[in-house]
Amino acid sequence: MTRAAIYLDHNASSPLRPEAREAMLAALDLVGNPSSVHAHGRALRNLVETGRRQVAELAGAEPKQVVFTGSATEAITQAILGGARAFSAGAVALSAGEHAAVGRAAEATGLPVWTVPLDSEGRIDLDQLATTLQKADEQSETLLVALHWVNNETGVIQPIERINALVGPTRHTLFIDAVQAFGKRPLEFATSAPDMVAVSGHKIGAPAGIGALLVKSHADTVRLIPGGGQEQGRRGGTESAALIAAFGAAAAANDYDDETLSGLVQHVEADLRKLAPDLVIFGQGVNRIGNVTNFAVPGVGNATAMMALDLMGLSVSSGSACSSGKVGASHVLAAMGVPRDIANCALRVSFGWNSTKADAEAFLAGFETLLSRQKRAGKAA
Ligand code: PLP
Repeated sequence: MTRAAIYLDHNASSPLRPEAREAMLAALDLVGNPSSVHAHGRALRNLVETGRRQVAELAGAEPKQVVFTGSATEAITQAILGGARAFSAGAVALSAGEHAAVGRAAEATGLPVWTVPLDSEGRIDLDQLATTLQKADEQSETLLVALHWVNNETGVIQPIERINALVGPTRHTLFIDAVQAFGKRPLEFATSAPDMVAVSGHKIGAPAGIGALLVKSHADTVRLIPGGGQEQGRRGGTESAALIAAFGAAAAANDYDDETLSGLVQHVEADLRKLAPDLVIFGQGVNRIGNVTNFAVPGVGNATAMMALDLMGLSVSSGSACSSGKVGASHVLAAMGVPRDIANCALRVSFGWNSTKADAEAFLAGFETLLSRQKRAGKAA
C-alpha cells in the first residue's frame, strides 16, 4: 500500500475542513435558487446569509459589506478594475511583491502602474509609498492603491497599520489583498482604513471557487458582472449556496494558531540550518506569519528538489507562481534583491490547520536524504 503524501503547501490551498465539507454536503441536498421567494428558495437564502454573517464575523465586517465572488482573484479584479473606473483613478499603485492576480488586474486597467519597491527583507518600502502619494498629489492624480497584507511566498507581514495610516486619510482608494492574512491576523474591516479587502475560501479550509470582496458602502465599484442583480447588485450570477455555506463554516471553525505553527517552522528552520549551514531564509529578520518558511540551500535547485521530495511523498512548493506546472522565477525574491541562482533554490513549506510535528519531521528526514544524495552525486561526479 502506498503511503499518503504529506501536504506541506497550505499557502497554495488548505485542505477542506470537515466543518466545511459537512456544511457543503448538507447544502447540496437542498433544491432551488436563493433568489426564489418560495420555501425552497428561502432555505437556500438562509444558508447564503448565514455564510455571509460567518465570513463577516471573521473579517470584523458588517454582513452587508461582504460580496461573494468565485475566487479571490475575481474579488481582486473587481476591486481594481471596478474601483479604478468608479473612482476615476489616474494610476494604480502597487508593490513589487503583489500576487499575479493584483499585478494582472492593474495591467488590465490600462492605467499607468506605479510600483513601490520591497526592501531586502520583503517589506513594502513605506518611504517610497509616501513619495508615491506625494507624486500623485503633485500631479493631481487619484490613485487606486493595491497592496498585500501577508506575502504568499515569504510570509512577510506588511506593516498594515502604517499603510492604513499613510493611505487611509488621503483621497486615494485603498485596496488590501488579505488572502494570506484572513483568519490569521485580526481583521477589523468595518472600522479600519481600507476601502476594499479581498479574501479567499480555499486558504482557510473551504473549497476553491469561493472568495469575497469586502467593500465599504462609499466604495462601491463599477460591477464587472451585472447579471441578475444578485449580491445587492454588486455581482451577478446565482449564488452557490453550497460553496458559501462551506466558506462560512470554515470561517466559523477557524482556529489558526500562530504560536503552534511558528513552533513547527522554527523547528524546521533550526534543523535545516544544522543540515546546511549556508541556508538562506527569506524575510528572516522581519515579522513573518507563523505558518510558512521560504528558504534556499545554495546549489540545491528547487525544480529537482521539489521533484525528489514529491517522489518521497512530500508536497512542497517553490513559492512562486507555477500555474503551468513549471517552476517560475519569483518576482518577489527578485524584488528583494535575491540573486537569481539563490532564488532558483527557493522552497516554500507551509503548514495549516491539520499539520503536525510528524509532518515537519517527515519533511526534515526527506530533505536530509535529498542533501546526502546530492553530496554523493557531487562526489561521484
Ligand atoms: N492573493 C494572494 C496573496 C494569494 O496567495 C492568492 C492565492 O494563492 C490569491 C490572491 C488568489 O486567490 P484565489 O486562488 O482565491 O483566486
